[in-house]
Amino acid sequence: MKHLLLILLFVLGLNVLTTEASWGFWAHKRINRVAVFTLPTELIGFFKENLEYVTQHAVDPDKRRYAVEDEAPKHYIDIDHYCEWPHTCVPRKWEDAVEVFTEDTLKKYGTSPWNLEKEYRKMVNAFKAKDSRRILKYCSDFGHYVGDLHVPLHTTLNYNGQLSGQKGIHGFWESRIPELFGEDYDYFVGRAEYIEDVPGKIWEIVLSSSAAVDSVLSFEANLTEEFPADQKFSFEDRGELNMQTYSFEFSDEYNKMMDDMSHRRLRMTVINLGSFWYSAWVDAGSPDLTELMTIELTEEELEKQKELDKQFRNGKIKGRDHWE
Ligand SMILES: [Zn+2]
Repeated sequence: MKHLLLILLFVLGLNVLTTEASWGFWAHKRINRVAVFTLPTELIGFFKENLEYVTQHAVDPDKRRYAVEDEAPKHYIDIDHYCEWPHTCVPRKWEDAVEVFTEDTLKKYGTSPWNLEKEYRKMVNAFKAKDSRRILKYCSDFGHYVGDLHVPLHTTLNYNGQLSGQKGIHGFWESRIPELFGEDYDYFVGRAEYIEDVPGKIWEIVLSSSAAVDSVLSFEANLTEEFPADQKFSFEDRGELNMQTYSFEFSDEYNKMMDDMSHRRLRMTVINLGSFWYSAWVDAGSPDLTELMTIELTEEELEKQKELDKQFRNGKIKGRDHWE
């Protein structure tokens, strides 16, 4: 069935990377992994012991979109639906926003920043309880959600260029570009710092992503105009299939035009993530983590993970996909 679907995607000329979403699986895993190395000594030991966990589980929230109703809107906010940058018509507090726009509308256009506040509190509580399972789960999840929010196309109605004849740009920006050039990125981003105002920081990320939407779209449109049409795409072997994707030359040129924006935003994600983790631990009263070490998943947890993977492989997203 999956095979058939991929062939169909190929026939339709869609990007193969459409099977993976949001910063691409590669980038999400890399972000969670390298953010560990921004942490201070009191935290880094525990996270290093569980480096594989936070790396592998960086993509669970994307998988959950196939299994859980209401998961999808947590990954984005189409903030330009409401009003123009700096989007002051949108109340930063959830209750106020519900009051103005209703919960249904907020869910329709995405709840990313408000969800992040909730996820932050889950991290703090897990640290307070010194519950290693929950610490790792919520820290991994947070890495995913905050990663998504750093992607400009996660903050616009035109999330896949579908409103401007640029369909496919979502995967191009957040999967193809980092997969091509990400190995050479510089991941030394400095040390995690305490965040005084967590909601303020989250909204700062929304605004910086939203401010970049115009460049992401217009550079691609401009380049498409001047680039030889028959060289924009190329074919690559992916498993047994030969798939159409943005050519290396086009990707390279675009990346240069954007002044390496994907690299810059990936670095920003890493340092911000490390700082959120660190701040959650401080807000929990800086608990001693030395006696908490590697966790083994229980039978039940393994079973749950298997089920999630199965639904992800076979399933259809409940709610909106960024790739449609
Ligand atoms: Zn996502």
